[in-house]
Amino acid sequence: MIDKKFEQELIETRRYLHAHPEISEKEFQTTHFIREKLKQWDIEILEGDLKTGVVAQIGSGRPVIALRADIDALPILEKTELPYASKYKGRMHACGHDLHMTSLLGAAKLLKKERFKGTIKLIFQPAEEIGQGALQVLKSGLVNDVQAFVGYHNMPTLQAGEIRLKEGAMMAAVDRFRVVVRGSGSHAAYPQEGTDVVLGISTIVQNLQQIVARNLSPLHAAVVSVTHIDVGNTWNVLPDEGYFEGTIRSFDSESRQLIKKRFVEIAELTAKTVGLSAEVAWLMDAELTFNDPNLTAIVRESLAGWYGPIASTEPSSAGEDFAHYRTQAPSVFAFIGSNAPEAPGLHFPEMTIKDETLATAVKYYVHSALSLLRTLEKPSEG
Ligand SMILES: [Zn+2]
Ligand SMILES: [Zn+2]
Repeated sequence: MIDKKFEQELIETRRYLHAHPEISEKEFQTTHFIREKLKQWDIEILEGDLKTGVVAQIGSGRPVIALRADIDALPILEKTELPYASKYKGRMHACGHDLHMTSLLGAAKLLKKERFKGTIKLIFQPAEEIGQGALQVLKSGLVNDVQAFVGYHNMPTLQAGEIRLKEGAMMAAVDRFRVVVRGSGSHAAYPQEGTDVVLGISTIVQNLQQIVARNLSPLHAAVVSVTHIDVGNTWNVLPDEGYFEGTIRSFDSESRQLIKKRFVEIAELTAKTVGLSAEVAWLMDAELTFNDPNLTAIVRESLAGWYGPIASTEPSSAGEDFAHYRTQAPSVFAFIGSNAPEAPGLHFPEMTIKDETLATAVKYYVHSALSLLRTLEKPSEG
């Protein structure tokens, strides 16, 4: 399927994109680059109101499936010292979206030559890192007819080219919180004249760790992380206000609801016990990335021919805006190894990807797409 010449072309494409990263909602050159490639291969681009990103299609009629790759980079100063490191200071493809979009381009070129019944939509999605891109694509109306969505993320901690897949929760639901705590300040020497926000915040932060330890079933996983506290500004004054923020990751909606409910109760009631008030704001969320069992089985089987049996995986406690596509149609999302054993993690300035990941990723898209179309084409039983 992929000869040496084609593989080399893909490697060069990936290196070019790696050297020219653009952050979320600013992927203008990247969009242009993708459009030019698709035009060159005579692939139909669907025009809509997306500011950045591209939706294209191969084939026509039903069934309709979509392959999705994200295209945005991060505001990170690259420290890889690669010959094709970012040419833009402070921007880097540190999440491997350069790999994702290159592999989708590769799959597009191959699928254009295939004969099949139905439509394969190609989603080159912007703004994944800020959780907006999938929503923008859905809102554009360009994927309204899609019956199944396929995606993947590279995993630097797995061997390059290793595929992992599991039914059910694949990546966490994400909630981001900010809690403002108010009291009345005083001289540090006369705490009895005020209500201590510093002590209040530290007590709330400690109590919040009881949620996972004592409210959640030990058989359900979740994490509550307070990552930033801002309170006070000198050594001899007790401040009257402060805040803290952080994130919650969970893997099923019941746990998620329970954690958020307890979070508010603990923040407000702990504050009250020391004469303070706490106001919880939820700033951002991302849904759970959930693999439909039927689609997962089809994809697993389609890969068995060239890849062999696919090992399962633990879900990742990172979030993915791919999860939004599931509001429209069932979806399946895999992990593809990209860099073990070196493995600086995703979003690290030293993150790199091994070239051999590309061929596997292209084949993952191609095999999944063709077998999903074949399965969806059959009238459902019963
Ligand atoms: Zn990322
Ligand atoms: Zn990513």
